[in-house]
Amino acid sequence: MISEKVTTVCPYCGVGCGLEVQPPASQGKATNRDSEGTPIWKVMGDRTHPSSLGKVCVKGATVTEAINKNRLKYPLYRETLQQDFRQIDWEEAFNLIVKQIQLVSKTIGVDGICMYGSGQFQTEDYYVAQKLLKGCLGTNNFDANSRLCMSSAVSGYMGSFGADGPPCNYEDLELTDCAFLVGTNTAECHPIVFNRLRAYHKKNRHVKMIVVDPRRTATAEAADLHLAIKPGTDIDLFNGIAYLLLQWGAIDTFFIDECTRDFPAYTQIISHYPPQIVADKCGIEVKDLETAARYWAESEKVLSLWSMGLNQSSEGTAKVRTLINLHLMTATIGKAGCGPFSLTGQPNAMGGREAGGLSHILPGYRSVKNPLHRQELEEIWQLPSGAISANVGKTVWEMIMGLENGDVGLLWIAATNPAVSMPDLERTKQALLKSPFTIYQDAYYPTETAYYAHLVLPATQWSEKAGTMTNSERVVTYSPAFSSSAPSQAKADWEIFAEVGKRLGFEKYFSFKDSAQVYQEFVKTTRDRPCDMSGLSHELLSKYGPIQWPFPLRSDPENRYGRRLYTDLHFHTEDGRAKFAAFHSRGLAEPPNPDYPLVLTVGRLYGHWHTMTRTGRIDKIVKMHPEPFLEIHPKDARKYQLEDGELVRVVSVRGEAKFKVKITSAIAPSTVFAPMHWGFLWAENAEANSLTHPHSCPISKQPELKACAVNLIKV
Ligand code: SF4
Repeated sequence: MISEKVTTVCPYCGVGCGLEVQPPASQGKATNRDSEGTPIWKVMGDRTHPSSLGKVCVKGATVTEAINKNRLKYPLYRETLQQDFRQIDWEEAFNLIVKQIQLVSKTIGVDGICMYGSGQFQTEDYYVAQKLLKGCLGTNNFDANSRLCMSSAVSGYMGSFGADGPPCNYEDLELTDCAFLVGTNTAECHPIVFNRLRAYHKKNRHVKMIVVDPRRTATAEAADLHLAIKPGTDIDLFNGIAYLLLQWGAIDTFFIDECTRDFPAYTQIISHYPPQIVADKCGIEVKDLETAARYWAESEKVLSLWSMGLNQSSEGTAKVRTLINLHLMTATIGKAGCGPFSLTGQPNAMGGREAGGLSHILPGYRSVKNPLHRQELEEIWQLPSGAISANVGKTVWEMIMGLENGDVGLLWIAATNPAVSMPDLERTKQALLKSPFTIYQDAYYPTETAYYAHLVLPATQWSEKAGTMTNSERVVTYSPAFSSSAPSQAKADWEIFAEVGKRLGFEKYFSFKDSAQVYQEFVKTTRDRPCDMSGLSHELLSKYGPIQWPFPLRSDPENRYGRRLYTDLHFHTEDGRAKFAAFHSRGLAEPPNPDYPLVLTVGRLYGHWHTMTRTGRIDKIVKMHPEPFLEIHPKDARKYQLEDGELVRVVSVRGEAKFKVKITSAIAPSTVFAPMHWGFLWAENAEANSLTHPHSCPISKQPELKACAVNLIKV
């Protein structure tokens, strides 16, 4: 047990704030305690962390209050979902897993084995899981909850630049002339990023802030210009801005000629987006469209920020690439204060991308489809040639469909709660009920997903295991094991995967003594790749603190922050040029119709984290957000004869939920908003995802969780 202050990283969102935590023993009389009176570690911001400069939000500040509560203490098993769980030991648990993997391999084939992981994993967990599934078992069926969060950003960057990786730094928040925030309620969902931008914007009145969002969120309240566009019209807006920039000559022809390609085809497309047509489609005034374009035109440095509002869309990749087009035509990339910057949801979704933690990618920003990439990895892993499958694995929604049609014989879920977070929740639950064998690995019990598991495995979590996480600006922070809150039988996720690998006969591939060795092997897979971090180690990160990649071998640790990508204006495409993408908007996959005339958009609140596995157990946050609700515009409330505070049934073609009505002009007419946090353990019949649909972007395969058609029925 450590008795001194330690520095670590917040385990909630992709901002990746540095935390300084102080053990109970050294806090004296004012020892912090959780609601049950147990002494807990006190959390403060780490002033030396370059990403957060000593700031934390309520989630980070209270994170230690949940770590002792409702912990899963030992493995549990039942043969059928109708039975009660019985306690078993790890020996029996590992035997069950090995037996099921062997059975499925023989009967369905290795592609009947699936793992669904999490941006809550440390990079070490991700990496060992990839080696087990993609390397040793030969199936690429590993997907993570990042599929629901930012896979459109990944495919957008890959399409435009030839490689994944957000090119900007948080420092750019304080160097920009114009911040263009689209589909991101940064004030609530990435509060420390927003606080930095807001403080700079307040002090520098020449700096412009544009917010594009159908809701007047706390983020929009701070903007110089709020464009409350109709859901699904982002591409129209971006193409409309491009039309005006082109018409005004506010483009950088030298950059376009020297560093990009496919501009002529793009100009053909944007010629269809004159202001009046765009304004009508988006439901905004022409003058507001022109103001947005003027802010772009007059700013030398434009920084665009986005998150789920663009990514969670059936045309998510097209949205991201169309936004990147604006940066390419104005040469606002590769320089301080500008660029396209995706804000990651999960704390280590970035580490997952680096470690190959989606079903179409491999460690080191490699692609499953690329034979050279597979060969390179087989050589690093010392596997026989052809061991890694050339087939893209199942996305999480394809895993659900695989359960429906009998193609999946083993679903292994770790550190995520799909029985709340997946779209079309009733269909998801019905599929989980059909699963021949579901393993659920988590720190907490009960959770909604545990109700659908045959085997439940206790995992250690943040503060109990050592590893690394990468935040949205590519800063890697070492997260040490410092607390003794873990139940004695809980194991780190990577240790569980490695033990299964050994028992399947792959001993030599999993002989890691500790997570430092895992990391040492992982960083080798990044050598000479766009995300090169081969110079990093646990030792270096512990000694010097957070370090930003790229950080190749023999990099100088004194120079560990302040890098941007593409400063040499050379991109990772075959010819080194960034690619324009020409897309028309297809609109929403499920537009409103006479039976379901409203658009439901879902999102997160300031205090709660995703499915509330931790934050639902923290009193301060529960008091802040005690119950789910439905925001509705006064006009629509009148039409449906609804009063503030009364219950309303919200129905879509897939299901229904009940929410308390909150009448507010912050939401656009014909649109309603509900938070996505509450599962059936926390509120009765208030699951926003029972309404949403799984129609996905054909490129990123990210579902359109952000919009579905609903109707309201007065209770
Ligand atoms: Fe944690 Fe995100 Fe809050 Fe920072 S902004 S303290 S990373 S939840």
